[in-house]
Amino acid sequence: MNRKAIVATAVATVLLAFGALAQQQTPTLDQLKAMPPAQVKAVLAANPALFLKVMRTTKKWDEAAEPTKVAGPIYFVGTQGLSVWLITGSQGHILMNTGMEGSGPLIEASIRKLGFNPKDIKWLLAGHSHVDHVGGHAYMKKLTGAQVATAAEEVGQMESGGKGTFNYDGVPGFSFEPVKVDRVLRDGDVITLGDLKLTALVTPGHNIGSITWIMEFVEGGKVYTVVFPDGAGANPGYRIVKNPSYPGIEGDFRNTLHVLEMLKPDIWLASHTESMDFDGKRARAKTAGTRAWVDPEGYRKMVASAHAEFEATVNAEMSAGKGK
Ligand SMILES: [Zn+2]
Ligand SMILES: [Zn+2]
Repeated sequence: MNRKAIVATAVATVLLAFGALAQQQTPTLDQLKAMPPAQVKAVLAANPALFLKVMRTTKKWDEAAEPTKVAGPIYFVGTQGLSVWLITGSQGHILMNTGMEGSGPLIEASIRKLGFNPKDIKWLLAGHSHVDHVGGHAYMKKLTGAQVATAAEEVGQMESGGKGTFNYDGVPGFSFEPVKVDRVLRDGDVITLGDLKLTALVTPGHNIGSITWIMEFVEGGKVYTVVFPDGAGANPGYRIVKNPSYPGIEGDFRNTLHVLEMLKPDIWLASHTESMDFDGKRARAKTAGTRAWVDPEGYRKMVASAHAEFEATVNAEMSAGKGK
């Protein structure tokens, strides 16, 4: 066994050992902090409600953040941990993601603070229909009158407020106010609004109809390609090969990783701020401007690490229960 395989086996053993224990009692955040990482992973895999609570608290998903210009027509109007992007155009704006259900008023305030009118938002888009990215859709739709576009595979989730979402169906905290979908998207579809053009690549895995969005803008005579990557990460508790979370999930992840590996963006904007060094880039942008957001190497590393993590998850599943 190589080192990776040994680690995978060790993780799988710990998963088995702590899985049963995790279902019996819910540890506090302090107790989780004191646990070794493999045990934390096992506990969270067995308890999605706790996973949500831990992420929400430690990554400050519900806390206000300073809105800021990113690059070209793109602005950040999200919370501390969750990215919400306002993409402004000559014929109206597009809002990408809306944070948790209660974050609508925070996003609205950020949009107004930057001097934009929420009523000019014509489209509500998202990377995928989990509560942390579409929780505020209902609020924003009522406020703006914008149309909601979602991948065909996630229309049911969006219109039922999260019902039927694999791994999270009926789990406390994962539901949100249902929203009617106005446009059903398929792979390669384009949202056009005045001078804005966003292409949807359906990249499933993390959710069944995750979308990676791509757009371009021109600034200072240069064309910049922007990618909003989605779909590549498996959450704790996802089953890829054995008793899969949904039929075809392994192939979906492999295709998605391949698609993401083929893209060569200048700028990549993730839906979770910590995964793209948002704070560091924003700080550097104060003097460097758009250049601070240009990060092709960071994108390549992010996809490579998502791929390695995926293979490790598959290996851990394959070796679970073996050699006993
Ligand atoms: Zn998600
Ligand atoms: Zn998320």
